[in-house]
Amino acid sequence: MPNKRKTIALVAHDNRKKELVEWADWNRDALLNHDVICTGTTGKIIEETLTSKLTPTEMRDFRLTRLKSGPLGGDQQLGSLIVDGKIDMMVFFWDPMQQQAHDVDVKALLRITVLYNVPTACNRATADFLISSGLFDKEYLPKPMNVDDYLNRVIDI
Ligand code: PGA
Repeated sequence: MPNKRKTIALVAHDNRKKELVEWADWNRDALLNHDVICTGTTGKIIEETLTSKLTPTEMRDFRLTRLKSGPLGGDQQLGSLIVDGKIDMMVFFWDPMQQQAHDVDVKALLRITVLYNVPTACNRATADFLISSGLFDKEYLPKPMNVDDYLNRVIDI
């Protein structure tokens, strides 16, 4: 049975871009079978690193989409794709040691991954576990959180 092609979001803050690029390079073969979507700068670096090592045939299979840079709305674009059910997994190496100008966007993105039950790795160990999971190449439909109570709440007007 052919593997299920997934859409995998890759994002890293500047201090963690090196780590994410190393991770993506190490997992190059696995990522080639899927669609990769990145915030702007992360995508630029991953694309440059990976494409320099791919054969022409691998290049044909490699699909990477770049959104806006995170602080310029890229995190929000990603959040919107998650809400529309277009992202199957996210690896987001955010920086635990530095405040970001767009911290509110980062928080919103992470919140939406929990709400929509999108597998999310914020460190390398979790990313390793996700990519080596038996579910990685299979069809998997995450069940979003139950929000019925919220939708049916009574509002006094
Ligand atoms: P960048 O954005 O890939 O454009 O640097 C990362 C982020 O969301 O902070």
